[in-house]
This record gives sequence, structure tokens and C-alpha cells, in this order.
Amino acid sequence: MAATVLTIGEILVEIMATTPGEGFGEPQPLVGPFPSGAPAIFIDQVSRLGTPAAIVSRVGDDDFGRLNLNRLRADGVDVSGIEVAAGETTGSAFVRYRPDGSRAFVFNIAHSATGRLSLTPSAEALIERCDHLHIMGSALSAPGIAHLAREAVRRVKARGGSLSFDPNLRPEILQAPGLPEALDEVLAQCDVFLPSGEEIFLFTESKDEAAAVTELLQRGIGTVVIKRGNQGASRFDQHGRIDAAALTVDEVDPTGAGDCFAGAYVSFWLAGADPETTLRYANAAGAHAVTKLGPMEGAATLSGLNALLAAQNGKDPRGVWVRQTRVQ
Ligand code: ATP
Ligand code: MG
Repeated sequence: MAATVLTIGEILVEIMATTPGEGFGEPQPLVGPFPSGAPAIFIDQVSRLGTPAAIVSRVGDDDFGRLNLNRLRADGVDVSGIEVAAGETTGSAFVRYRPDGSRAFVFNIAHSATGRLSLTPSAEALIERCDHLHIMGSALSAPGIAHLAREAVRRVKARGGSLSFDPNLRPEILQAPGLPEALDEVLAQCDVFLPSGEEIFLFTESKDEAAAVTELLQRGIGTVVIKRGNQGASRFDQHGRIDAAALTVDEVDPTGAGDCFAGAYVSFWLAGADPETTLRYANAAGAHAVTKLGPMEGAATLSGLNALLAAQNGKDPRGVWVRQTRVQ
């Protein structure tokens, strides 16, 4: 039986400003709602690759909730752990790109339906049954999600399951109460750590990347995978590093790239693929994600990733270049 991947965290709709600029201080054109929430995007990518996948979350009994439920169900995700809360409202995120490419968010997570997760019998059954758990820092920033995520981490690890962790920290959530403790606890137990860019330094004494990676590996984390946006990605373990150059694609909307990257990484790793193949497909999944408008719209199937890699092969050999450096 293929391993079952579980994630716990927020389900949202995303509504995007159609013009770049500084946030939402004035009326402006918007597009959406799109199905979203970093854990939801992650689990949708896992499922589209054919890996058994489930999510524990909570939505309101409204169109925003149904939009997400319908999408996840259609893509094969086990939605039995998504509670539909009568009288509550599904979470949302408004996003606007600034001219420099950074993003301003207005989140409604902590006080929405998704901000009040509890250990329902369905959630408990999934936690007891999964082989792998994926946790995101964004989920840990909402107290009503973090307590369940931390409980699930303890239970899954105690019975020998594996854990991946993507800090996914936005400036908007860094000040959340209790966040540092929750991050430390999850980091200490994770097998695969997937920070993007500078995020790694939030967890280390060192401000130099190589030293920071060494510090994390010495703390017992099996694998560190650094996502580098349009610069590709790198994977580190005690044997050395592997670098994947970015594929050449037209970036339409970068939101969700990291989540799709992680979804593909975890799927290939759990299926027993070698490190190069795992990194290559994760890198391709991230690249695929940015070609579509909407955070979850770019989650790819295996044939979609193969087509993207094959097209790169002909066009630009950089796209499938993976370099390995072994530590003696
Ligand atoms: P998010 O949290 O918004 O989902 P992230 O910051 O976690 O994103 P990124 O580093 O932006 O993650 O992207 C993840 C991966 O996707 C990169 O490591 C790379 O493999 C791929 N990727 C992202 N942007 C591009 C791009 N413009 N071209 C090619 N590949 C990309
Ligand atoms: Mg991310």
C-alpha cells in the first residue's frame, strides 16, 4: 500500500488584486475566489500525483467552503477530516503584489472556521492512520490550529511516522503569540525541512547558509531542502548537497509554488525515488505552479510534470540540470 500523507491546517479562499500596488487601502479590481490555504494546496498537489492524501481542516457552511471541498474532492483528496461548521465563515486571504514582486496580505484565518480546529473523531482517525504528516508554519501561527497540529506531530512521530515541515512564514504572521515555541517543537521532530530563501536563518544561530544547514543537520534533521524561487532549489543531507537549476517558465503567479514543490517532494520521497529524481520533480512542480493564475490552479499531474521536463530538455538543458556534491 502506498503511504498516506496527512496535513493539518488552514483552508481559505484567495482573492487577488488584479493590479500591482501597495495593499488594500483603496477600492480596486479583484479576482477570485480561488481555493487556497497553504496546507490545502500542498495536499492537492500530493493527491494529483496519485499519492493517498488527506487533510484535517474546517470550513464554514458557505460557498467559499464548498468551492474548496469540491476542488479537493475532485482531485482525490480524502476530505473526511474537513469539518463543515454551521453558522461560521470560511477563511480568506486577500493578496496584492507590490511592484517589487513582494506580496501584501489581509488574512482572515484565526477568527474564521478554519481557526478553530478540534480533535474530532474523523481527525483522530486520520492522525492514527497516516504514514506521513506535513506541517506548515502558517498553521502554527493560529492558536486554534496549532494545538491540534502539535498533538498530531507527537502522535504520528510516537508511532514511527515521518514528518515534513515548511515554515512558510509571512511577515504578517511572525508576531503570532506562541509561534516561536510551536516552530521549535515541530522543527525538532521533522525529517524533511523545507524553508524558502532567508527563512532558514529564523531557525539558526548562523547567518551563513552553509553553516546554517550544517547546524540544522547536526540537530538531527535528516534532510534540508531550500526553495529558491526562480533560482531553483537545493537539497542537503549528511552525504552532501544536490542543486537543481530552475526550469524556464513564464511566471504568472508565484503563490503556491512552495506548496506544490513540497507536495511533489514528499510524494516522490515516500514512493522511494532517489534524491535527484525527488528534487527534479519537486523543482518541476514549483515551476509548473507559477505558470497558472491562482494558488492551487498550478498543481500538476505526473504527466504534466513529465511534459514540462521533456519540453525543457529540448529547449534549455539547464532546466533538468541537477548537480551533486558529496561530502567526504
Ligand atoms: P509560496 O510560499 O508562495 O508557495 P515559497 O516561497 O515557499 O512559495 P518558492 O521558492 O517561491 O517557494 O518556490 C518554490 C519552488 O518552485 C522553487 O524552489 C523552484 O523550484 C520553483 N519555482 C518558483 N518560482 C519559479 C520560477 N519563476 N521559475 C522556475 N521555477 C520556480
Ligand atoms: Mg512557502
